[in-house]
Amino acid sequence: MALSESFVTRRLAVFTLGGDTLLTSYGANCTAFAGSRGTLLVDPLIAPAHARILAEALARCGFPPVTQVVLTHHHTDHTLGAGWFSSHGAAVIAHERCATEMSVHHASIIAERRATPALAALFADAEPYAPSLTFKDVFRIDLGDAIAEARHLGPGHTAGDCVVLFPSEGVVACGDLVSSGYHFNYEDADLAALPAVLAALERFPVAKFVPGHGPSGGREIVEEQARYHRVLAQIAAGAKSAEQARSAIRAAFPEHRLEFAIESALIRLRH
Ligand SMILES: [Zn+2]
Repeated sequence: MALSESFVTRRLAVFTLGGDTLLTSYGANCTAFAGSRGTLLVDPLIAPAHARILAEALARCGFPPVTQVVLTHHHTDHTLGAGWFSSHGAAVIAHERCATEMSVHHASIIAERRATPALAALFADAEPYAPSLTFKDVFRIDLGDAIAEARHLGPGHTAGDCVVLFPSEGVVACGDLVSSGYHFNYEDADLAALPAVLAALERFPVAKFVPGHGPSGGREIVEEQARYHRVLAQIAAGAKSAEQARSAIRAAFPEHRLEFAIESALIRLRH
């Protein structure tokens, strides 16, 4: 399994296993920032096995030991790897609603995956865990010579979302509020709130946006995500059947990965 890294700034890199299946964390991005007191990770992938691959890559790239992890939301491709860093001494920080959703859903999801032959090995040592620190609106993280700030912009992709701002780098890690080249998972989304949250994110005083999945970019990737929601809402409203909506969504975004996420759009957007 090949983990690739791309440096957004000298001290901030994004790691991903690429692809769009559960075995590669659905291509989720893990952001790493090296502070003088340790490394902060955002969303270290779907399983302890992936966390270990990440830890090796971080050491190889010269990152100091991981002292803090921020979870942008409770979905397992962003959270279950953090259990491994937690058991190796890192503080795990999440919005209070993210922590609640983790405690409600993770144990049964892990059990289900362990009972699935193709997934059993990957989840053999995955364990449910609770974040060590939770917050409501803003959480400021002191990294010695720099800070990071986890901010809840309101419900969006899930009720317990946060984004992580790195002021010294001019970078924000957006979690799944922004997916670039991947279909959006509407399963737990607040459809009414999404446009305002994305508008707020677009106004962030940064040059670089790291999406939950796909390549990083400028403000245009946030605009593109807002356009995606408008296009899908239009398709869902006008389609005569789920099949027609499905085909129209595929035709509108032919290069997008994570096709199964289209089903969440059909369930949530068609009335
Ligand atoms: Zn998600």
